[in-house]
Amino acid sequence: MSHNPVFVEERRDKVEEVREIRRTTCCVVGGGPGGVILALLLARKGVAVELLEAHDDFDRDFRGDTIHPSVMELLDELGLAERLLTLRHTKIHTGTFMTPDGPVTVADFRRLKTRFPYIMMIPQKDFLEFLVEEARRYPSFHLTMGARVEELVREGEAVVGVGYESDGRAHEVRALLTVGADGRGSRVHHLTGFEPFKTSPPMDVLWFRLPRSEDDGEGLFARFGGGTAVVMLDRLEEWQIGYVILKGSYRQVREEGIEALRRKLAEAVPLLAGRVAHLKEWKQVAMLSVESSRLPRWYLPGLLFIGDAAHVMSPVGGVGINYAIQDAVAAANVLSAPLLSGEVKTEHLREVQRRREWPTRVIQAIQTQLQNRVVAAALKPGQQFNLPPFIRLLLRIPLLRDLPARIIAFGVRPSHIEN
Ligand SMILES: Cc1cc2nc3c(=O)[nH]c(=O)nc-3n(C[C@H](O)[C@H](O)[C@H](O)COP(=O)(O)OP(=O)(O)OC[C@H]3O[C@@H](n4cnc5c(N)ncnc54)[C@H](O)[C@@H]3O)c2cc1C
Repeated sequence: MSHNPVFVEERRDKVEEVREIRRTTCCVVGGGPGGVILALLLARKGVAVELLEAHDDFDRDFRGDTIHPSVMELLDELGLAERLLTLRHTKIHTGTFMTPDGPVTVADFRRLKTRFPYIMMIPQKDFLEFLVEEARRYPSFHLTMGARVEELVREGEAVVGVGYESDGRAHEVRALLTVGADGRGSRVHHLTGFEPFKTSPPMDVLWFRLPRSEDDGEGLFARFGGGTAVVMLDRLEEWQIGYVILKGSYRQVREEGIEALRRKLAEAVPLLAGRVAHLKEWKQVAMLSVESSRLPRWYLPGLLFIGDAAHVMSPVGGVGINYAIQDAVAAANVLSAPLLSGEVKTEHLREVQRRREWPTRVIQAIQTQLQNRVVAAALKPGQQFNLPPFIRLLLRIPLLRDLPARIIAFGVRPSHIEN
């Protein structure tokens, strides 16, 4: 197998279909934050990478827009942070719960010891385009948009590439290593038949935007209680709203009608009362079915999973992007040299999982506790909600009060660029 940048040949398979076959060293399936960062890091090391993204552009609305301090530090290690900060963005410095006793700041990022003591909010499209532009500087980087992977190419036990469809034609990429970075609902994961461990978060989330006014205050606000839980993220002229509902109740919410949603939102967050009219039709509302799962094994010979394809993250704490990127960095650290030498062993792939599985398990356990003890309690109709005593106590202890901010900002055991 060649490990040099891609060359092209044609093959006639059994059904007499002419397929273009390209060869590369690493084929990354999925141009989300995990896949794009991995492709950039490998290309930077001179590894030939083919990144396949199913969509024709990065303009996807139904995504998070958060860049956490740990990611800013990684970008800084790559010399990219200052340039990213020149793009239009907002900064979230605090996370505040509106409780019946008044606002309580549960996370103050300004107190963290980092050059980037905030969560940067930037449309994910702008972030991904920025990274791709950087990756294009490296001749071994190759991106194909509109390339939907549909099959794995196998030789015995090993995965040796993927088949994808683009422009109505079948194509194939053969690679020393294939990386499934194709997010929740990963096609690559389904093709392997791996069964994930799943937990059952008690909620789903309605995701939509409303206009924001300069005097609203900035940052991240959460208003929980009386049967509703609302999270608001500052997104320049708009609030990104996460309206949390009980798992499985979406149909009922739809049947109650958009007017009922507007009314409940205005009752929960009076600040928004004058703006809920902007919510006119269900088309404006995306429904995120909240999941939390983790594959028992993140690899097969010739294949590795990272990001949501390896572990779907609950939206609690907004850590999914951070974790996908941390996985990508760990994978690049471990795999760049073996890829360059042309020999990736199972032990290399196991090492990526070893580095990233424990941080994932810890954060998923914390999310489960918060979902069950905070979110589920808030969604009980008619009950006044307040922050649980253990969180109030934590916030009063000087040594521990920054723990929530630190976990949101950095996750657990963050990765760093090793060379
Ligand atoms: C509504 C919503 C809000 C969220 N808010 C936040 C937040 O505020 N903060 C946060 O950190 N996380 C948030 N998340 C989670 C976050 O978006 C994910 O955890 C993160 O994007 C995972 O990154 P990834 O690179 O693993 O996968 P993804 O970002 O899902 O990227 C996967 C990519 O693979 C492509 N793809 C899929 N199938 C194929 C195929 N067959 N062939 C080729 N390409 C394919 C997709 O088009 C996509 O571009 C949110 C998620 C949702 C749905």
